[in-house]
Amino acid sequence: MSEIKEIYLHNYTKPAFYIDSINLVFDLFEEYALVTSMMQIQKSDADEKHLRLDTIDLELISLYINDLKVDESRYIIEEESLTILNVPATFRIKIENKIYPQNNTELEGLYKSGSIFCTQNEPEGFRRITPYLDRPDVMSVFTTTVIADKDKYPILLSNGNKKEIVEVDENRQSVTWFDPHKKPSYLFALVAGDLGSVNDSYVTASGENVELNIYCDLGNESKCHHAMNSLKEAMLWDEQKYGREYDLEIYNIVAVDSFNMGAMENKGLNIFNSAYVLADTDTASDANFMGIQSVIAHEYFHNWTGNRITCRDWFQLTLKEGLTVFRDQCFSADLNSQEVQRIEDVKALRERQFVEDASPTSHPIQPKSYISMNNFYTATVYEKGAEVIRMIHTLLGEENYRRATDLYFESFDGQAVTTDDFLWAMQKAGNIDLSAFKNWYHQSGTPKLEVEESFSEGIYSLTLTQKIPNAVDGSEQKPFTIL
Ligand SMILES: [Zn+2]
Repeated sequence: MSEIKEIYLHNYTKPAFYIDSINLVFDLFEEYALVTSMMQIQKSDADEKHLRLDTIDLELISLYINDLKVDESRYIIEEESLTILNVPATFRIKIENKIYPQNNTELEGLYKSGSIFCTQNEPEGFRRITPYLDRPDVMSVFTTTVIADKDKYPILLSNGNKKEIVEVDENRQSVTWFDPHKKPSYLFALVAGDLGSVNDSYVTASGENVELNIYCDLGNESKCHHAMNSLKEAMLWDEQKYGREYDLEIYNIVAVDSFNMGAMENKGLNIFNSAYVLADTDTASDANFMGIQSVIAHEYFHNWTGNRITCRDWFQLTLKEGLTVFRDQCFSADLNSQEVQRIEDVKALRERQFVEDASPTSHPIQPKSYISMNNFYTATVYEKGAEVIRMIHTLLGEENYRRATDLYFESFDGQAVTTDDFLWAMQKAGNIDLSAFKNWYHQSGTPKLEVEESFSEGIYSLTLTQKIPNAVDGSEQKPFTIL
């Protein structure tokens, strides 16, 4: 058992190395998979001698630097790391290792569920696939080749655009994907299986044609049409409301029973559990249809708020989730009913987030520390985070908010940033000081408003008092800006 380590936001340090590109080859077999990773790496901190990669229970086959086999005396394998000693300033590294997706019960990294291989890498699953700098501020260009039996796994998917299909031999085929957009490892995805699909296309505002595919378990094809329509509505809405267009030739969605998480926004290859995507008019309710529209849009909107601009570290999770929940709430309101949507969102907030915020697990939308990041995918980070963005939207007004998001996208595209960077764009374009407003990011609990009214001698007075709960550790907190 590994020792329990608490990780603090204030201890953040920049990566000592960057990975410019990674070329991955997956050879999938019935009992194991071989992974070959070729990376172009450069040192960003000249004083750092050793490269420490994240990995879990590594079964290393071979290791090369600049095409030369690395001797065992030059690397150290520990339970959660591979350290390569005395590396040069820039170099190529090739790592071959073996993994067992069939035995992967953690459901992080690459796993086989039923007859399908799929991945879940947010927040730290990629290290279970191959040694890597598995942190969101290391963004790289990924090329991925998947090789598998072509009868059992005729559909081989990864991120980006499809580059090449090769018949390896009579039984096996190889498909190569290239994603030109730099991304962190948590957005890497792979799916292999025998899947059905529905296909469509979308022409972006600048006239680019995008192929749209929804893959599902065989026999579920007729239940995918509402999700496909929702995807096209989301693509159009993001162009009109935020000026954001889709940026690849293909957008793939996989919706299968065997994906155990709810939904994941991997670049160009969203993966969902069937329950969130499939519906037919005979059995699904209006609420089912609206839920599908919302979750398809949410994962699509991440393409800009999460993928193109990502989080510097996991303390910034609300940067992508609060903003994207706010975006999907506004999308649903625009397409359905503003009033009904707002009532539903506030109801959900009161039922889930208020309860969490009144409990011992109350935490700010930007936590200060964590032991396991998996415990911070909370109603606070998501739903309260969305309310904080909604207040900024109210404060700035529609027009200034759009100027501010434009500035955010222009300034930070292709980067891993912080909530302070987002607030900088809001302040600059909105010409407003948000320093007091920032308490929402660092304080916990639900403030209570007391309202006193009086009417005497023709004057009506309204007195509002804010009651601020103490933090979980008992410390006093500052007043919140309330809109
Ligand atoms: Zn999300």
